[in-house]
Order: sequence, then structure tokens, then C-alpha cells
Amino acid sequence: MSKRYPTYLFFGAPGSGKGTQGVTLGTLPGFFHCACGDVFRRLDTRTELGQRFLEYSSKGELVPDEITIQLWRESIQAAEANGRFKPDVDYLLLDGIPRNIAQARLMEDIIEVRHVFHLSCPDREKIVARLKKRALKDNRLDDANEEVIRRRLLAYENESKPLLEHYGPALITDIDATQFPVKVMKDILDRVVEDRKES
Ligand code: AMP
Repeated sequence: MSKRYPTYLFFGAPGSGKGTQGVTLGTLPGFFHCACGDVFRRLDTRTELGQRFLEYSSKGELVPDEITIQLWRESIQAAEANGRFKPDVDYLLLDGIPRNIAQARLMEDIIEVRHVFHLSCPDREKIVARLKKRALKDNRLDDANEEVIRRRLLAYENESKPLLEHYGPALITDIDATQFPVKVMKDILDRVVEDRKES
């Protein structure tokens, strides 16, 4: 592939609302949303890969980088092959990937990061409460157990947050994730409109 996919990253702690925003923007023409966690959750848990996913996610840990990036690439290529993702017209909206600097490097040849939306929620207790509520609603086992939640947040702090420095302030918009979701969406859209004007 010669041209890299123009990409917006939705970045933030688990429970910061990046999935909701990604799904919503992804319903508009010109965008294709892909959440890495969803790609993993669609795996048949009887397969070896499905078992590896359960092994790590049940502990609140990240799945090893090579497996993750390979699965993600296959998923994007499948979406492109069946016409759901049209890279000549669609911006890619990624949520939950890359999750660390090593993943960002492994994806550099395929995505061109146009902007990073950092959904920020410094109040960790609010995040924990959100995740517990979502666990009940969406049957997400990894978010039902408080110890697993704490480990997910720790992985975010230690492994994912350094990405903010990796991409640098010029590429990042910090957004207050505790706002009403439509206000979060407005903040994102304002930046997207600016970006599309420039391109
Ligand atoms: P999420 O729904 O994005 O919070 O992801 C749920 C779980 O899937 C995580 O706790 C990880 O075990 C795994 N996972 C999702 N995305 C990634 C990624 N980019 N790298 C490694 N593991 C991931």
C-alpha cells in the first residue's frame, strides 16, 4: 500500500467515553470507526487467539503487541476488502489502539495520525463508577471486578499515557471527558472541521 490511512485517534483511560464518541462520529459519511477492544471481543473464545485475549483481558492487562497489531491489520484489511472501509474517502477513527509506543511504531507504516483527541478525566473514582455501570449494561466481565479495573487504569497510566508525549502537543486536543457527551462531540467536531478545512 502506498498511501497511509489518514487517522484520528481517540485516546483516554478506559471509561473515558472514547468508544461512544468514536461510534457516533463513525456513523457519518467519510469516517470509519474501529475499536480494538471490539475486534478482540468478536473473536471466538474457543480459538487459540480468543483464549489469549481472555487470558490477558481478564487480568486487566494488554495483549502482547505483535498479536494485537496483526489482528488489527487483518481486521482493517477485511473491512477494506468488503467495502465497509473506503480508504480513498474515509478517515479512520481508532479507539483503543495504539495502546503503547511500541504499537504506535508498528502502525506507523499504515496510518498517518492527523490528530489525537485526548478525553481527559483526572477523577479516577468517576472512571471506576462509569466502568462498573457499563459492565452491568454491556456484560463486560473485565469491568465488573474492581481489582481488574484498577489494573486496567494502571496499564493506561504506565503504558498508554507516554503516547501523549510521543505524539506531542501540536497533534493533541485535550477534551474534558466529564462534560455532557454532546459537548464532548462538539469539541471533537470543531477540531475535525478545522482540520478538514486545511486539507
Ligand atoms: P478495551 O475495550 O479497549 O478497554 O479493551 C479491552 C481489553 O482488550 C484490554 O484490557 C486488553 O486486554 C485488550 N486490548 C484492547 N486493545 C488493545 C491493544 N491495543 N493492545 C493490547 N491489548 C488490547
